[in-house]
Amino acid sequence: MSDDEKPPQPEQPAARRRMVRPPSGGTAAGRGLGTQIKTADKKSMSSQQWIKRQLADKWSERARAEGWRSRAAFKLIEIDDRYRLIKPGSRVVDLGAAPGGWLQVALKRGAKSVVGIDLLPIEHVPGAELIQGDFTDPGMDRQLLDLLGGPPDLVLSDMAHNTVGHRKTDHLKIIALIEIAADFAIRNLRPGGAFVTKNFQGGDAGGVLARLRDEFETVKYVKPESSRKGSAEVFLVALNKK
Ligand code: SAM
Repeated sequence: MSDDEKPPQPEQPAARRRMVRPPSGGTAAGRGLGTQIKTADKKSMSSQQWIKRQLADKWSERARAEGWRSRAAFKLIEIDDRYRLIKPGSRVVDLGAAPGGWLQVALKRGAKSVVGIDLLPIEHVPGAELIQGDFTDPGMDRQLLDLLGGPPDLVLSDMAHNTVGHRKTDHLKIIALIEIAADFAIRNLRPGGAFVTKNFQGGDAGGVLARLRDEFETVKYVKPESSRKGSAEVFLVALNKK
């Protein structure tokens, strides 16, 4: 097994899981990197901390300067620079797409048909079709595929739930989202297609990992530079759907 087929080791213990998405109550606009600090006093402590972290963070600053809607954009840029997943004319599905950084990257890199879904509203992204809803709802996969206009070349999932603080429950929720995204990718990707999903170090994604290894030629773990160093976040990249 090569180095990037093994899960990267956390740089700090991953005992405390942080919310990867901002706390609830945000809108697509409110969650954007232009979020105004003056509204922070009305928000919860965790929300204020999230805003402070965003403002201090070099990737968030770069995202603002370069016009990306989220610092998450850089994670997909790094993954795509390494594996060349987005090709001119690609059909791309983005699960958990708000506020839209990955949608922007996919379109900028030449994808022709891009569909994103999120529980939260996503501000219009020129060129992308958007659904506000729960990806795990029955019939959502059909809606996404109808909008896409053909089998996807690439399925992306950056979905992250709101943690409840109960370790076991949070863990089960993370795994459930990964499994359902992987299942969608396996059932719908065209042969040769690719799947990228957020995962967490220390999370037992063993079952889904085995399935991905059966269904794809190659499966890699990636911890992008732009992913916070102390976070347990890591990405699984599955290449060449059989
Ligand atoms: N990749 C995005 C970007 O580049 O801007 C950031 C995604 S953010 C880290 C994770 C998103 O997953 C949140 O906006 C959250 O609402 C969404 N999410 C979590 N569970 C979901 C579900 N069941 N269906 C749809 N979206 C979901």
